[in-house]
Amino acid sequence: MFTDEDWESQLRGSLRDAEGLARLLPLDGGMKAALDRLADSGALPLRITPYWLSLAGPGPGDPILAQCLPSPGEFEPDPDSVPDPLGESLHRAAPSLVRQYRSRALLRASGECAVHCRHCFRRTLLPSERGYISPGDQAEAAVWLAERPEIREILVSGGDPLIAADGRIENLLSALRAARPEAVLRVCTRCPSTLPMRFTPGLVALLRSFRPLRVVTHFNHPRELSPQADEALASLIDAGIPVSVQTVLLSGINDDPDILESLFSGLARRGAHPYYLFQADLAPGTAHLRCPLSRGLDIYSELRKRLSGMELPRYAVDAPGGGGKVYLPEGIVGLEGDKYILMSPSGVRASYPAY
Ligand code: SF4
Repeated sequence: MFTDEDWESQLRGSLRDAEGLARLLPLDGGMKAALDRLADSGALPLRITPYWLSLAGPGPGDPILAQCLPSPGEFEPDPDSVPDPLGESLHRAAPSLVRQYRSRALLRASGECAVHCRHCFRRTLLPSERGYISPGDQAEAAVWLAERPEIREILVSGGDPLIAADGRIENLLSALRAARPEAVLRVCTRCPSTLPMRFTPGLVALLRSFRPLRVVTHFNHPRELSPQADEALASLIDAGIPVSVQTVLLSGINDDPDILESLFSGLARRGAHPYYLFQADLAPGTAHLRCPLSRGLDIYSELRKRLSGMELPRYAVDAPGGGGKVYLPEGIVGLEGDKYILMSPSGVRASYPAY
């Protein structure tokens, strides 16, 4: 059973700089140069919990390390990148609220994460957004939500909304529940994979008290399914809190049908629902981690042969620039040069690099 001391000491012991990392890992010249540039560039800083490092194998190409270690590729020119790949600034409804769909709204509750993922689509926003939502923004969001009964689901996102004391999380969820007693709260957190000890009996009971509530989390590799992650998932599921899982298709990390088959079947066996396999967004500094869409289609085709309906997530991409979710392969309506033409269910047209 996890305690508050477990997760708080993980955060206190996080690696945040090159010196700390060099004490634990041999760093090659490219890695040292990337770390130096990171410190000077204002890009998403390094942050790794000791727990996450404990999952890693040797070498910077390891799929656990490659998700959190900066690489020289982050600083290469990327003509396909889009500063705000999901167009969240276009859909801002209140200071910390984004509304892209009629029935859902997303609240950015925190700028903190246990591990900084190098593929994060909010990687240009997070460095300037430390800490939790302010009381003023929280109150404004609650008023906005109370006035819109057509919003059926409130996505509580970040950063990671569970990187805070239980009391602060309770204060936020109480305000949302008071504003919208019937709405489903979706808590979007990577803690089950990056900081599973966050799921203390106290936090699980707190989340349970705000049902209807589900946890939407993020696993990218079967190595993340550790005994501690098992315990976190089981504690949520046993408390009647459904768990859905999103995965990002990442070059050199999980772009392999064998790896994804193992991940998705492992999640389903634990009672979690593989929800989405996402084609990576066109966030700046992530081109080296993006699996080409043409290859992603081949991988998904193979997964459809191997996985049952309960194990197979939907393959999707967020249309660059804010057009909403496009399901793959059915949302591809053409190929122009080296770009696939996409059409979202609501009729928005966009393009995405094919190769
Ligand atoms: S946990 Fe989520 S929000 Fe935080 S860095 Fe990773 S992908 Fe981004």
